[in-house]
Amino acid sequence: MPDILQKAITQPPEASPEGGHTQVLLDAEHLAFRAELRAFVLREVVPIAEDYERAERFPSDLLKEKMAPQGYLGIPYPKEWGGRGLDYLAYAMAVEEFSRAWGSLGIIVAAHTTLGIGPLYNFGSESLKKAWVPRLAQGEIIGSYGLTEPQAGSDSGATHTTARRDGDGYILNGTKVFCTNATHAASTTLTAVTGKDAESGRSRISAFFVPRDTPGVMVTKHEDKLGLRGSDTSTVILEDARVSEHNMLGREGEGFKIFMQTLDNGRISIGAMALGLAQCALDEGLAYAHNGLGLFKSLFAEQETLALLADIATDISAARMMLYGVAKLKDAALPHTQEAAMAKFFASEVAMRATDRVLNLLGRDGGIRHDCPASRAFRDVKLCTIGEGTSEVQRLVISRELLRNYAKGENK
Ligand SMILES: Cc1cc2nc3c(=O)[nH]c(=O)nc-3n(C[C@H](O)[C@H](O)[C@H](O)COP(=O)(O)OP(=O)(O)OC[C@H]3O[C@@H](n4cnc5c(N)ncnc54)[C@H](O)[C@@H]3O)c2cc1C
Repeated sequence: MPDILQKAITQPPEASPEGGHTQVLLDAEHLAFRAELRAFVLREVVPIAEDYERAERFPSDLLKEKMAPQGYLGIPYPKEWGGRGLDYLAYAMAVEEFSRAWGSLGIIVAAHTTLGIGPLYNFGSESLKKAWVPRLAQGEIIGSYGLTEPQAGSDSGATHTTARRDGDGYILNGTKVFCTNATHAASTTLTAVTGKDAESGRSRISAFFVPRDTPGVMVTKHEDKLGLRGSDTSTVILEDARVSEHNMLGREGEGFKIFMQTLDNGRISIGAMALGLAQCALDEGLAYAHNGLGLFKSLFAEQETLALLADIATDISAARMMLYGVAKLKDAALPHTQEAAMAKFFASEVAMRATDRVLNLLGRDGGIRHDCPASRAFRDVKLCTIGEGTSEVQRLVISRELLRNYAKGENK
């Protein structure tokens, strides 16, 4: 690990590398939580991240033995539901810090917490929640999320998976692809078509909580990804998989809305992941400059380096303000569709630029595959401009919200 990161993590929170903005945005509880996270990451994550990533090893042991006891697998859920009982801002900060040390850990926690547990906690029946939420939030088991299908990615309303009524249950058939955590997960929250709307002729999509041990559920094809190789991304196949009607989340036909609301929150976690990866690159760029300034062959190279670091740090700081702001909107139970899309869009594009520029700065060392956290972050960050809606889709979401508000006269 670069010395600069070691220093940042071990110094008191007020000496953090993100500058003074967060001192204003965060209260004492959040600052203390961030200090706790940094100490944890330094102790438990940094020493193993590179080895696990190289071995493409899913960190089941880290999750169960180290993170679950800290409550890190259920940060934004109430203590009575097995969670840590903190808010969404604290959770976003955790995804940021985990990703800063290891992108794979960031996406594992994000997919489990927001996507695996979120729809169940927010829309499940009391009995279903009682049976599953505490085990998930305590990290005894891991969750996953199945929205994407072979022919339904950005256009997630094009779902082909079906759920046919069968007595007091539903029979599910279809294929969900690119499900993060699926191989190691005990459950998948997913969408399926339960009929057609008589008036519009559109598919009525419903949401279900599907335990992994349901007969007819199979997990196949571990994707060979560009980055995030310590995380798992797999296909979930449903062949006449029968679930109880109590496993439906919300009411019949509400699934699409439920999943879109879930994505509003998921986009905060992907933005947090991007921030952590961008910070990882900046950490390495700062270490390089710290060790190299004065040794550069020309004043021009030195000035270029300083300007580049200033640009990256400014970008990251702006992205962090947006991201913490939208997390606070969510915590205040205010609408945040547009703001979450903006924060995810901006943070992931900032992280793409930051990782790219720092690798250039490192020169040939930037081309090294292993033992270079910035190069790992460069590979990992691509997910952030794709997952939970590509940057193009975020633009659509933002512009739709802008026009909707304009039509309502709310832009004045
Ligand atoms: C590592 C990883 C983990 C993932 N984890 C999960 C998961 O846990 N659960 C899950 O359900 N999914 C997951 N996904 C899937 C991810 O959400 C989709 O890949 C993403 O939504 C894009 O869909 P697609 O890949 O089908 O691309 P497509 O929809 O085929 O898009 C292809 C291109 O067309 C553009 N495009 C499409 N429609 C429009 C439009 N209307 N306007 C402008 N441009 C458009 C896109 O921006 C993109 O550039 C994961 C993906 C990755 C890479």
